[in-house]
This record gives sequence, C-alpha cells and structure tokens, in this order.
Amino acid sequence: MNNQSYRFKVGKFHCIAISDGSHTYAPPTFPTPPMLLFANAPRESLGEILREHNLAPEQWSEWVSPYICLVIETGEHRVLVDTGADGLGPNTGRLLKNLKIEGIDPEDIDTVILTHGHPDHIGGNTDNEGKVVFTKAQYIMWKDEWDFWNSAKATMKLNEHVREVLLGCARKNLPPIQHQLCLVDREAEILPGIQAIAAPGHTPGHMALTIFSEGKQLLCVSDTVLHPIQLEQPGWYAVIDMDPGQVEATRRKILSKAAIEKAQLFAFHFPFPGLGRVVEGREAWQWQPIEKTQ
Ligand SMILES: [Zn+2]
Repeated sequence: MNNQSYRFKVGKFHCIAISDGSHTYAPPTFPTPPMLLFANAPRESLGEILREHNLAPEQWSEWVSPYICLVIETGEHRVLVDTGADGLGPNTGRLLKNLKIEGIDPEDIDTVILTHGHPDHIGGNTDNEGKVVFTKAQYIMWKDEWDFWNSAKATMKLNEHVREVLLGCARKNLPPIQHQLCLVDREAEILPGIQAIAAPGHTPGHMALTIFSEGKQLLCVSDTVLHPIQLEQPGWYAVIDMDPGQVEATRRKILSKAAIEKAQLFAFHFPFPGLGRVVEGREAWQWQPIEKTQ
C-alpha cells in the first residue's frame, strides 16, 4: 500500500493527502503516549477506552505520529497546507520528494497555508540554508499565531529542550517568509472554495479550513485533534495543547459542524491518509476512517 500520497476529490477540486514522514514521541523528551495525548484523563476510564482501541495502557511506550500535508488543486490555484518538518527527525522531511513523485515542483505551489507555528507544520518553509522553498507562493497564517511566535511572550509549559526546538524552528522558518505573507484575522474565504476557521487552543492562532466545491465539503482540522480517541473524549487534552479549555471548545465547534454537515475530515496526525468522517458516538463522536480504494 502506498502511504506516501493519496488522491481524492472534493467536488471538482483535486486533493492529495501527502506524507512528510512520521515522528516518534517517547520518553525522556516526551511523556508516554497516554500522558502526552490525554494529560487529564481519569486513569480508569483511560485504561478502558485504550483497551477498546486495542492499545495496552502499560505497554504503549511511544507514539509514532504520521505527518500529513494536503495539496488542493482548485483549477485556479495550487495550494499546499503545511510544509512538514524538514530536519526534525530521521523520518521527517519527505514532503518535497513526495510532491515530486506527484509531478509537483515547489514553484508550482502558489499558496501555502500554515495552520499553526509548530515545527511539523512550518519546518519545510525554508531549506538547510534558510532560503524560502516555495518561492512563488503567498504564505497565509492567522495573525495571532504569527504575532505569538514572533513575540518575546512565546512561553510554553513544556520542558526546556522541547521549548527550544519549537522556538528555534519558528526563528528559522518564519522571518524568511515575511515578504510573501498574508495574515488573516477573521473567518473569511481566503481563496475561492477555501475558508479560514478560527480554531485556537492547541496554539493561540491555530487555524482550521473548510474546503468546499459543488456541495461537497472537507474540514481540514490540523491539530484540533491529535488522536481519534479525542473525538470520543473532546475534553482530554494533550500536554502540547496550550489552552486546554479553548481546545475543548474548538473541538466541540468543529466536530459538531463536521457531524451535522456530513463533511469529510482531514487530520494531520491521524493514521494515513488522515481522512474520514465524524459520526455520533456513545458519549460524543467517533472516528470513521475512509476505506481506501487505491
Ligand atoms: Zn502537529
């Protein structure tokens, strides 16, 4: 099975879920996966729900997370959502190679939308020498997010090492794009058929997208949810979520929209290709991954 790219359509838009690779989150840099992803979950119900998902709470020692970017070809524009994590780990930074296999060069991308400023989403903005990779593109980011990472206030409740990785990546990958940058500060259609949705919590200016064409809809939620269990337990936040209360409110807003409007969902960290639907569940919702046809 090809886990590098997956083509699908939203109305008349041609889309590609395209892998940047994967990254392993494990102690000592990060807590164990249950603590990392579900920081406030009550122990007993956590154990129960993990077992329902065929995960052994005591043996789940590392989270191998996919990194999945998205290409949207609208006919007028060729858009890339997030740029992956070039240089973060041994298995990341595959985006350009996988784009090439799909026949796409960096100069073919005219718009890059950055959902937020974490290394796995902006790490491919620049090359090893710090030069902008997508030279012909306009970069789009939520204003609060840009301001946060470019301010001295960029503080996080994370260990020193992780904080330095995050800030170092932002310093390398954000200033070089400033001359190609367009900031959004409200929920508006940023390109025909692509709407910015405020989704704060994971980070201050985290952005989701609605992609719509001919009555079909795709909700690109980025890191609003990091693991399918968070659809069932929208209050279980991750250690790396900056504002837990806001995370839950954002999840409820976006997941209920997806369920009611029967939109397809695309989630950056879910099992490849990160596509599926949100269905009503016992307590909240449930993840229903697509059945791949290719
Ligand atoms: Zn992420």
